[in-house]
Amino acid sequence: MHDLQSFLVQYMSDYPEDVVRVTEALPRDYQVTALAMATEQMAEPPVIVCDAVEAAGMPVVTNLFASRVRIARILGTTVEALHDHWAARSKHLIPPVEVSEGVCQEVCRLGDDADATQLPFMVHFEQDAGRYLTSGVVAARDPDTGAVNLSFARMQLKGPRRFGISVHSRGHLWDYQRRAEARGRPLDVAVVVGMHPIYMIAAASRMPMGVDEQEVAGALLGHPLEVVRGVTVDVPVPAAAEIVLEGRIEPNVREPEGPFGEYTGYATARSTNNVFTLTAITHRRQPWFLDVCPGHSRDHLLLGRIHKEAEVLRKLREVLPNVKAIHYPVSGTHYHCYISIAKQRPGDARHCALLALGLDAYIKLVVVVDDDVDVHNEAEVMWALATRVQPAEDVFIVHGVTCNVLDPSSYDGVSSKMGIDATRPAGWDAQRTSLPREVVLRAHDLLRSHRNRLQ
Ligand code: MN
Repeated sequence: MHDLQSFLVQYMSDYPEDVVRVTEALPRDYQVTALAMATEQMAEPPVIVCDAVEAAGMPVVTNLFASRVRIARILGTTVEALHDHWAARSKHLIPPVEVSEGVCQEVCRLGDDADATQLPFMVHFEQDAGRYLTSGVVAARDPDTGAVNLSFARMQLKGPRRFGISVHSRGHLWDYQRRAEARGRPLDVAVVVGMHPIYMIAAASRMPMGVDEQEVAGALLGHPLEVVRGVTVDVPVPAAAEIVLEGRIEPNVREPEGPFGEYTGYATARSTNNVFTLTAITHRRQPWFLDVCPGHSRDHLLLGRIHKEAEVLRKLREVLPNVKAIHYPVSGTHYHCYISIAKQRPGDARHCALLALGLDAYIKLVVVVDDDVDVHNEAEVMWALATRVQPAEDVFIVHGVTCNVLDPSSYDGVSSKMGIDATRPAGWDAQRTSLPREVVLRAHDLLRSHRNRLQ
């Protein structure tokens, strides 16, 4: 079965060095977030499983998506091949299949028996308005076509059957809700809490309107996702999910939601202020709880990253086939983008930067480098900025462009944007220093053996 807990049990046995299992008793609030945030400076942040979070009654998992190496393993590929893997798989979408029963409904709690306050939703940051669900995948149907959409939305626990929900990314769920509301109708949704990481990665992708992200999950799994129908809503949920919250987003109801620590590294109350009313909680007999560490964390930032990079790369190459690689560095949250090209014409770098700014409204700074620079190595990109850029010629700024509203420096959803051409100019004659390859390999061997002798 493709589910969260079987995946983790297998992963702990295959890669024990990449898992931290905390058996000590932990307070529910702040501590799980602090554990995840404490791994931020590590080269490969491990997944963290907490066995004894206060009053949780189930294992709590965080930091699952905090490493590109782990995401590559989850998808069955390597870090180097991630973008090509995504491009190849997403060409062949696989629709889900409905099955009659699933472990996600082994226990069904309806009416007053459904009490969300009993679940281990935690306070993540000191600035947060309260306990939040950060890992919820919201499944909903298009009110006109019935097409299913998956997306993430932060949810603030407000009572046993009441949450605040923000759909500020203004994607397809936001559009569904608006259209239902125009008819005075609630939007039925099912919120999936804990599922195989491929489902989560698929849900974080942003496909064109009408494309069902469950089909992306199928494409990445290599077989159809098995779904069951909700108990109180006509929305499909993965049969193997850990916990599902069924309910509806109320029409014409708004109340304050937030503040909440967002990916920018700032707490924000910018919210659509919607309200979710719970109609049922279904779960496995012994569920595990998945948290996505919010704030400016790798867990949060990398979850949707591979799809975004692969999509922007594919679209750039349609126009500029000489684009080599792309990287959104963690340091720039979702706002900085590094791209390498094999420059053929003097204007290629600026052309590439303008295309990227047009393709992704989140981008505020694009740096375009030559293909001898590794865009995944931020120090190398900064070195190219230091040594190949003449600011007066190579920097350009475009004013008044749509941006993501969570950027605290933006105003009215608008930001200026910057492109930097960090490629070598025409007539470049500076020589990069180098060493013979066999000498470099010998040096690594020597250092390794001497280090062993010291131990
Ligand atoms: Mn969508």
